[in-house]
Amino acid sequence: MSFEIPDHLLEIRKRVQDFIESRVYPVESQLEERGGAEAQAVMKDLMEEAKREGLWALGHPKEIGGQGLPFLDYVYVNEVVGRSEYATVALGTHSLQDSIMLKEFASDEWRERYLAPLVAGEIFPSFAMTEPDVASSDPTQLRTRAVLEDGHWVIDGHKWFTSGADRAAYTTVMCRTEDDAPDHDAFSMIVVPTDSPGYRIVRDVRVMGHYGGHCEVRYEGVRVPESHLLGPRGAGFRIAQRRLGPGRIFHCMRWLGQAQRAYDLLCERANERVAFGKPLGEHQQIQKFVFDSACEIQSARMLTLHAAQKIDQGEEARVEIGLIKVMGAQMLHNVIDRAIQVQGARGVTEDTPLEGMYRRARFARIYDGPDEVHVMTTARRILRAYQVGDGWDFGLR
Ligand SMILES: Cc1cc2nc3c(=O)[nH]c(=O)nc-3n(C[C@H](O)[C@H](O)[C@H](O)COP(=O)(O)OP(=O)(O)OC[C@H]3O[C@@H](n4cnc5c(N)ncnc54)[C@H](O)[C@@H]3O)c2cc1C
Repeated sequence: MSFEIPDHLLEIRKRVQDFIESRVYPVESQLEERGGAEAQAVMKDLMEEAKREGLWALGHPKEIGGQGLPFLDYVYVNEVVGRSEYATVALGTHSLQDSIMLKEFASDEWRERYLAPLVAGEIFPSFAMTEPDVASSDPTQLRTRAVLEDGHWVIDGHKWFTSGADRAAYTTVMCRTEDDAPDHDAFSMIVVPTDSPGYRIVRDVRVMGHYGGHCEVRYEGVRVPESHLLGPRGAGFRIAQRRLGPGRIFHCMRWLGQAQRAYDLLCERANERVAFGKPLGEHQQIQKFVFDSACEIQSARMLTLHAAQKIDQGEEARVEIGLIKVMGAQMLHNVIDRAIQVQGARGVTEDTPLEGMYRRARFARIYDGPDEVHVMTTARRILRAYQVGDGWDFGLR
């Protein structure tokens, strides 16, 4: 495979990058306070501008109102989108996974009511698996239950880290619905409007000193019609996998965009700032930062594109996704950490975007499965291939 950016994507990547640098970067500090009326108004303006400039929902399928960029093309664009934390919402890409999930698995009624406003950015989605009372990296332990009564699902449970629930129109909730099935066939996804009686946001959980909309939510006898089930009963794990697999590739490409931005700040400062009679970049220890970061960024890029290519060819690519989820998150953290170090005290102020990027990079090693779980499942898959005599071939085709 070629790792070059395909020629036909150069223009759209450039337009997206220009939009982010000229429109999104200057208002990032206003957007940091995401709950505030001012932040919401600023974001709304950005969304309108992106629509006017033809940059909205680039990766969403055309039949649901997007621009239909093919998966692999979109991966290359997402690398640029990643440069700003706020660009996913500004460009309408934040709803991609949820809108595809609704398109594929929701009842006609739900699709008709929610899909168009979701893709248009008029409403926001949220997704609830994680629970405070059980180790949710092993989701077979989840305790939230839904019982079918008189044509309605009645849901009781307790979730947290339902990101975006504070502004979402609905939450897709992973619930145990089957008593007698094996664990992996016992859970279902049910869509719950956030204004349902019994849906109660307990708090916006403050994380590393900031409110990011990572809500704790109680479900107290919430009743929704039977048609709010996504896909068949007991298919929760299979739907989650379909949602998370490509989603992890999108994360990884965005992390590369973040890392590139941090790397630019690292190298520019290394060339400009003088200490002990010469620029920082002429000190060997700083050269090592430059070198190690280049190795890690480029390795992560190759791994991500390789995984993306396999998915594009119709494979599940679970080993490749496991490798890049762990390596990509660590790369992101390391590169931003070095960029902060080179900036000195300025690196931990809000005068550069590095402080916020560092905070969010720490999350990346936990969300969508902590490092250790991906290490476990990926290593097991490779070892199983050896057990059956196939071995593991790293050759690229
Ligand atoms: C910023 C952020 C946003 C998030 N957004 C969402 C969201 O929108 N929706 C949602 O449902 N969830 C969300 N999450 C939650 C996230 O998916 C979970 O935190 C994650 O799955 C881990 O579950 P847990 O927190 O219960 O950790 P636990 O399962 O309790 O695990 C704790 C630690 O134990 C270790 N561990 C676990 N298993 C193993 C193992 N097999 N071997 C070795 N060590 C192990 C790991 O170090 C792990 O970090 C978000 C999390 C963050 C930080």
